[in-house]
Amino acid sequence: MTILVTGGAGYIGSHSVLTLQQAGYEVIVLDNLVYGHQDIVEVLGAKLIVGDTCDRTLLQQLFTDYQIDAVMHFAAYAYVGESVTKPAKYYHNNVIGTFTLLEAMREANVNNFVFSSTCATYGVPDSVPIKEEQSQNPINPYGMTKLMVEKILQDFSHAYDFRSVCLRYFNAAGADPQGRLGEDHHPETHLIPLVLQTALGHRESVAIFGTDYDTPDGSCVRDYIHVLDLAQAHILALEYLLAGGKTDVFNLGNGNGFSVKQVIETARQITGKEIPATISDRRAGDPPALVGSGEKARHILGWQPQYSDLTDIITHAWRWHQKRHG
Ligand code: UDP
Repeated sequence: MTILVTGGAGYIGSHSVLTLQQAGYEVIVLDNLVYGHQDIVEVLGAKLIVGDTCDRTLLQQLFTDYQIDAVMHFAAYAYVGESVTKPAKYYHNNVIGTFTLLEAMREANVNNFVFSSTCATYGVPDSVPIKEEQSQNPINPYGMTKLMVEKILQDFSHAYDFRSVCLRYFNAAGADPQGRLGEDHHPETHLIPLVLQTALGHRESVAIFGTDYDTPDGSCVRDYIHVLDLAQAHILALEYLLAGGKTDVFNLGNGNGFSVKQVIETARQITGKEIPATISDRRAGDPPALVGSGEKARHILGWQPQYSDLTDIITHAWRWHQKRHG
């Protein structure tokens, strides 16, 4: 079986390529390398096609040249703040790019699609842990682009012979425990990498964005989910579709929330470093608490996260950061 992985040079995509390869799949990576890393795909030894999902001609050629059985679609821009200031960039890449890919797939009669969606489609939830049927009201263009694709996929599965699984991730974190792969964003905006860069001495301090939230310690609470557990869920979703499963959506969360302060404290213990922290204003658009119920994925896909402990997640991320940036 050959799987096309768009965005396979990125963080979650590359860990999914590794997991697919370990499960015996052939993988072809399509990545425009705007944010992805060529050296990571080389480490994986996967075939890399450098190109964009908006390029219909390239996609047609790709589906002609290779017998693709299914597509895992990670390629997307994912900076929430940038999506607010540059929405056109996000709608173009995330919506038009995905639509172009879907059209090329239909033309080539490739009918199975696993899609990277996000808890950002929920906006500010009415209650936590969030379940799949809760209302989706994104509060930024990034979340809106992902919700739009979810809607397109629903309509396609009603009208066409086309099935998909949308996986709504909570906070992807951690790294390959063997240190081969990890998170490397430029610019970096995510909490755990910033905390670890501070531990390495590359930053003077980490800012805590708000300590006046209605949460146990006043800082924001998030559900950190190990990137390899996300990758495992993608394989299970793929196998579910290949076995004839119907179009569906699943949250990928551990159901456990950790505050910004807890993350920093855990990182201090793991690294043995001081990690100075300062208190800053709230970051616009941050819901106080996002925690996801992964029950549906457990029941229907048989998903069993292996690394739900925050210590494992930060230990693996630390190993990678020391190797990549130490
Ligand atoms: N955060 C923070 N300082 C930072 C970066 C993030 O306090 O320098 C907080 C942020 O407000 C959020 C949590 O850490 O509550 C996780 O943020 P991240 O950007 O990693 O992921 P997001 O939840 O935005 O997807």
